[in-house]
Amino acid sequence: MASFSCRRALLVLEVLFVTFLSVSGFLPETGRLAGDDIIEVNRSQREFDYFALSFQWPGTYCRGTRHCCSKNACCRGSNAPTHFTIHGLWPDYNDGSWPSCCYRSDFNEKEISTLMDGLEKYWPSLSCGSPSSCHGGKGSFWGHEWEKHGKCTSPVFHDEYNYFLTTLNIYLKHNVTPVIFSSTIDVGCPFGYVASNSDKYPLGGIVTAIQNAFHINPEVVCKKGAIDEIRICFYRDFKPRDCVGSKDVTSKKSCPKYVSLPEYTPLDGEAMVLKMPSDRDVL
Ligand code: 5GP
Repeated sequence: MASFSCRRALLVLEVLFVTFLSVSGFLPETGRLAGDDIIEVNRSQREFDYFALSFQWPGTYCRGTRHCCSKNACCRGSNAPTHFTIHGLWPDYNDGSWPSCCYRSDFNEKEISTLMDGLEKYWPSLSCGSPSSCHGGKGSFWGHEWEKHGKCTSPVFHDEYNYFLTTLNIYLKHNVTPVIFSSTIDVGCPFGYVASNSDKYPLGGIVTAIQNAFHINPEVVCKKGAIDEIRICFYRDFKPRDCVGSKDVTSKKSCPKYVSLPEYTPLDGEAMVLKMPSDRDVL
C-alpha cells in the first residue's frame, strides 16, 4: 500500500513536472498529456509537417504469402482484395524524416469497434505476423500503425477513433484504384490498366493518371518491378500536396520504367485448410 501511494505520488509529481515544462516551452514534444498513460514521452520529436497516405497493392504483397490465417486478407480466397488497401496514414517532416512512437499508451481495439467493417475491407492486414508495438510488445497491424505513426499526429489527432475514421474517409475521397484502372493514359491498349502477371505498364502513365486526378505528385514504391505502394500526401488540413522527394518520381531507383500490377492467385483451398489450424503456427 505504501509503495503504491508512493508510486502514485511520484507519478503525480512527474505529470506536474512534464506539464510545467510543456507550458513553459521547454518541451517540444507532440504527444498529448493523458494522465496516467504517460510513462515515456519522446521529447525529441517536434510537430509533423504533413501527412502521407500509403496505399498498398495486395497483388504484390500477397505474392509473398506462404501461410494463411484468419486475419490475413490475402487468405480470403476469391474475396481477397482487388483494390489498393491502406498501409497507413503517416506524419512526415519536410526534410524527409518522420516522427515515430511519440508517447506511451496501449492501443485499445474497442475504441474502433464500430469501424471494423470499413477497416476489414479497406485497411486489412495482408500478413499473418504480429508487428511489434513501440514499447516491446506485439499486436495487430492496426495497433502497430496507431502506436508507431498515429500517436505522432498530434495536434491533429488525439485518439484512435478519429485517426482511423478520418483515414478511411480520406482514402475513399482520394482512392487511387478507380483512377488507375479507369485510365488509358500511355497504356498502349484501349482496355487500360488491368492487373496481370504478364503485362507491364509505363510508370509514367500511372503517375500521370494520379497527377490528373489529384493535381499533386505521388510517391511510388516498387518491389521486384511491381507496384508495391503509392503514396499521396496532404497538408495538415488534408488539402493534397506533393510528397517530399516526389518531384520526378519516374527517375527514382525504386521503380523501373515499366512496372507490373500483379494479380493475386489465392492459395488453393487445400493449402489453406492445411495451414490454418492456428494463427500461432505462423508467428
Ligand atoms: P510500417 O511500415 O507501418 O512501419 O510497419 C508495418 C509492419 O506491419 C511490419 O512489421 C509488417 O510486417 C506488419 N504488417 C502487417 N500487416 C501488414 C500489411 O498489410 N502491410 C504492411 N506493409 N505491413 C504489414
